[in-house]
Amino acid sequence: MVPIPKIAAGSEFGPLRVRRGERVFVLTGAGVSAESGVPTFRDAGGLWEQHRVEDVATPEGFARDPEMVWRFYSQRRLKAREVRPNPAHLALARLGDRLGDDLFLCTQNVDALHERAGSKDVHHMHGRLLSTRCSSCGRAPFDDESAYETAPRCDCGALLRPDVVWFGEMPYGLPRIFDALEETDLFVTVGSSGAVYPAAGFVSHLRHIGRARCIYVGLERPDNAHSFDECRLGKAGELVPSLFDVT
Ligand code: NAD
Repeated sequence: MVPIPKIAAGSEFGPLRVRRGERVFVLTGAGVSAESGVPTFRDAGGLWEQHRVEDVATPEGFARDPEMVWRFYSQRRLKAREVRPNPAHLALARLGDRLGDDLFLCTQNVDALHERAGSKDVHHMHGRLLSTRCSSCGRAPFDDESAYETAPRCDCGALLRPDVVWFGEMPYGLPRIFDALEETDLFVTVGSSGAVYPAAGFVSHLRHIGRARCIYVGLERPDNAHSFDECRLGKAGELVPSLFDVT
């Protein structure tokens, strides 16, 4: 029989017991950064800071108008200097301090708020806003906080591009992610609509493996709610700080 998830206000659930040696996988989405003032996709009704996603977050959009795409990401880089981690980021950093290698923190976000809260070894499956790479040659991506007026070029002559994974591109480090999922005892998604794949499918993959408890924390029921054991509804900044009880 397919289990029915318990979907209720976060206040109706107790903390999640984590025993020493258990492996915890936390997947965060745009919702974890919403209380820091970084807009989610959904907030803007499919628009991302007034732009169509197809124009600023696809390889085709970049090929059509690299200047406009760079202006968009440059604006976001400038705004990134103003935002601060919120209690959810800070709580996940504390969890990492307690669990060490037993925590795999994977984010769909390109912002650096987990790192700024103190998390180490964050897996940015959709890349990083403050990194740039060449659109053509094999040069390694490099840290870059610059805001550009015009599209910059690599030494090889090709256009440089933001080191973010756009729609239609392969997320970073999927083998590492799936290895971590195989070992997971507790899987927690925070603030992700469950609409963007492959991340939205991690929980159904875990259902097949059949060993992990799967918990969602976020403002509203995600599209993939049916695959979770529990959906705890509420703000990440209010629920995550008291979510884990490490014994
Ligand atoms: P999404 O915008 O599709 O969904 C955000 C989810 O967060 C929604 O379900 C919403 O209910 C929930 N939410 C909103 N406020 C919340 C809060 N205070 N606490 C808890 N939950 C809250 O985002 P997604 O599922 O992460 O996927 C969309 C894509 O958007 C990702 O690929 C990501 O790379 C990209 N993105 C990233 C950022 C960022 O880097 N901060 C911001 C916007 C979009």
